[in-house]
Amino acid sequence: MDLAHEKYEALARHILDANPGADIERIRAAFEYANGHHGPQLRKSGEPYIIHPIAVAEIINELELDQDSIVAALLHDCIEDTDSTHADIARLFGAQVADLVEGVTKLTRMQYTSREDEQMENLRKMFMAMAKDVRVILIKLCDRLHNMRTLQYQSDVKQKEKALETMEVYAPIAHRLGMQKLKWELEDLALEYLDPVGYHDVKAELANITTLHAGFVDNMQAHIENRLAEEGVRCKVYGRVKHLYSIYRKMYAQNKTLNEIFDLYAFRVIVDDIPACYNVLGCVHDMFKPVLGRFKDYIGTPKPNGYQSLHTTVVGREGIPFEIQIRTWEMHQTAEYGVAAHWKYKQGMANDKLGTEREFEWVRRLLESQQDTDPDEFVHSLRVDMFSDEVFVFTPNGDVKSLPAGATPIDFAYSIHSAIGNSMTGARVNGRIVTFETPLKNGDIVEIITSKSARGPSRDWMKICKSNEARNKIRQWFKKERREENIATGRAMFESELKHAGLTLAAITASSDLLDCLLKRVRFGALDELYAAIGYGGLSAQKAAGRIKEEMTRLGRLERQRAEAEAMQAAAASGETVFPSTGKTAAAPPSRHSASGIIVEGLDNCMVKFSKCCTPVPGDPVVGFITKGYGVSIHRRDCPNADPARRRPEEQGRWISVAWADTGDATFRTSLEISAKDRDGLALDVAMALSAQKAKLNNLSARSQPDGYAIINLELAVQGQGELSRVINKLSQIPGVFLVKRAGG
Ligand code: MN
Repeated sequence: MDLAHEKYEALARHILDANPGADIERIRAAFEYANGHHGPQLRKSGEPYIIHPIAVAEIINELELDQDSIVAALLHDCIEDTDSTHADIARLFGAQVADLVEGVTKLTRMQYTSREDEQMENLRKMFMAMAKDVRVILIKLCDRLHNMRTLQYQSDVKQKEKALETMEVYAPIAHRLGMQKLKWELEDLALEYLDPVGYHDVKAELANITTLHAGFVDNMQAHIENRLAEEGVRCKVYGRVKHLYSIYRKMYAQNKTLNEIFDLYAFRVIVDDIPACYNVLGCVHDMFKPVLGRFKDYIGTPKPNGYQSLHTTVVGREGIPFEIQIRTWEMHQTAEYGVAAHWKYKQGMANDKLGTEREFEWVRRLLESQQDTDPDEFVHSLRVDMFSDEVFVFTPNGDVKSLPAGATPIDFAYSIHSAIGNSMTGARVNGRIVTFETPLKNGDIVEIITSKSARGPSRDWMKICKSNEARNKIRQWFKKERREENIATGRAMFESELKHAGLTLAAITASSDLLDCLLKRVRFGALDELYAAIGYGGLSAQKAAGRIKEEMTRLGRLERQRAEAEAMQAAAASGETVFPSTGKTAAAPPSRHSASGIIVEGLDNCMVKFSKCCTPVPGDPVVGFITKGYGVSIHRRDCPNADPARRRPEEQGRWISVAWADTGDATFRTSLEISAKDRDGLALDVAMALSAQKAKLNNLSARSQPDGYAIINLELAVQGQGELSRVINKLSQIPGVFLVKRAGG
C-alpha cells in the first residue's frame, strides 16, 4: 500500500471511531477523487500532495465537525490546484460540499499585503464575511494549521510571511470564534518563525523552571483530585504549563521574569454542573491561599466570544502560584472548540442535557443583533449579522476597502480619491467590465478605468452611489467645475419653484433693496450664487423658494404694521381709536425635516455625524462642531469634549448651534454603562430587561472587576430620550445594579 492509502486508511479508522455511523464510502470516494486529481503533485516536503488534504481532514475529524466538512476538507485544494470545478464536485458530492470547497478556495486566494491595523481589522472582518458558512472558516483554519505544522519545508521568506499572516489574521479569527486550542497552537507555531530567538529562549527557560518544579503538576493534580473525591465531587483535573506564546507575551510585552508570572501553570477542574463549579471553588480556596484580585467569574459574565469558567489564582505550600479554571463539560467544549462545538452538541445532544442551549444563547445574543432566530440558524447568523452593513473589496494592489453594503464602483472610485471618481469612464470587477450601478460583493477586486478626457460625474451618480463620501465629492465637483451650467439649471429650477409658490422672478427682483433682503434670508450674496447652489445640489430649489416666500410674507406684514402704526399715530393726533393688527410677529417655524435628523443653522444638506464619545439621541440638548472634512459632528451639550471651558480658542468659531429635526421613527445609536455588584446571571438579567423593553440591542459586553463589581457596556438603538430614560429606569431596577449612566456624560 502506498503512503497516500496508508494515511487514508488511518483517517478512515479515526472517523469511524468518532462516529461509527459515518458514510465511509462517500469519504473514500472523496479521497479517491482528490488523489486522482492531485495526481503526481508534490508538497514542498517531497510527500505526495494528497497527504495535506488528508491531514486537514484529520484535524476536522478531531474537531468532530460533520461529514460534509470532512469530505470538503479532502477536496479543499481541488478547485485551486487541479482542473476540477465547482460543477464537478457538486455533481459527485452535492452542492453543499461544492460550496464549502469553493468558499475555502476564495479565502485561499485572499491577499494580505499591507499591515496597518485598520487594514488588518478589515481583512479579518472580510474573511468572516466572505464565508457563507462558518464551516468554510473552520476548514480554512485547519488548512492553515497543517501548513504551519509543515512550514519548515518552505523558504525563509515564505515562512515569515505565513507566520505573520497566521499571527495577525488566523489566530485572531480562531479567538473570535472561541477556538482556544487551535488558536494556541497557531500562535506557538507562528512565534517560532517570527522570533526564533525569543521562542527558543522562553522554551529553554521554561524547561529549566519546570525541571526545577519537577513533579509539581502531577503532585498538585493528584492532591486536588484526592481532596475533591473526599468531598464527593465528580470531576476531572488537568494540569499543564500555559502555552508558550502567552508566556512570551508576558515576558516581553510586560517585561516580567518567569518567576513573576502568576499563571505559568494552569489546572482545569471539569465538573458536571454549575453548582459543582462553585463548590470546587470553595474547596480550592480552602486548600490553598487565594491571590487577591485574581478571581474572575466568567460563568456569571461570560466573555464576548462565549467563554465561561471560574478563574482563580492560588499559592500552595511550595510557594508556586498557579491558576485554576473551573468549568462544566459543556463550558469546556465551548472553551476548547468554540463555534466548532456546536456540531458536537447537535450530534450528541440528548434531552437530559439541559442548559446546553443556554450556553449558546449567550453566543447568539452577543454575536447577532437580537432577532429571535432558531438555534439552527445560529451558524448562518454568525456570518451575516456581524457585518451585514459593510462590504469588503480589494484594490488591484490588494488593499482592502470597506464600503457600505450595496456600494457600487462609483463609491469605490471616490473612496480612493475624488480625482479617480471624477475621471472615471468605466470599471472592472474581477477582470470583467461592469456597469456603474453594479453592487459590489465581498472579495471583489475592483479596478477603475479613468481617462483624462472624461467628462466628469453625471448627476445620476448621486442617486446610484451608496456612500456619503461619494455623494459629497460628486456634489463638490458640480459646485466647482460646472458653475455656468449650475447657474443655468439652478435658475430654471428656482423659477419653476417660484411659480409653484405663486411668485415670479420679476416680483423678487423688483427693487435691489428687496432682493438684498431676500438673498440675506437664504444667506447668499448674489442671485448667481443662489442659482449655482441650487444647480449643484447644495440647496434645494423648493427650500429656497419657500424661504423667499416666507420672507416676502414677513416683509409684507412689517410693511402693514408700519402702515398701521402710522395710521394710529395719525389717529392719536386726531383722537380716533384704532386697534393694531393681531397677527403674530413671527410665524411658528414649520416642522422641519432633515435626512440626518439634525438641522444645522446656516448650512443646508451638510454631512452630519453623531459623535461616538457621547452618542446623542433626539431630545438631548446638542451642539455641533465643524470638522475638517467630515461634516458637522454632533455632541451632547454635557459632553466633556463640548465643554465650553475646554474648547480651543482657535476652534471657537467652529462650534455652531444645531437642533433636532423631526426624526420620525428613525433610531439612533447610543451607549450605556452599567455598574453593578457582580453576581451569577447579572448580564442575563440585563439582556432580559432589554428584551422586555423591546430595546434594540446592538452590542453587550460585560467584564468582572477584581473588586467584586462588574461593568456592563451596552450599545442600543433608540428613537429618542423618552425611550432611553425608560430603558435606564428599568435597568436601574435590576438587583445589584447601582449606576446606569450614558457614555461620555
Ligand atoms: Mn490546503
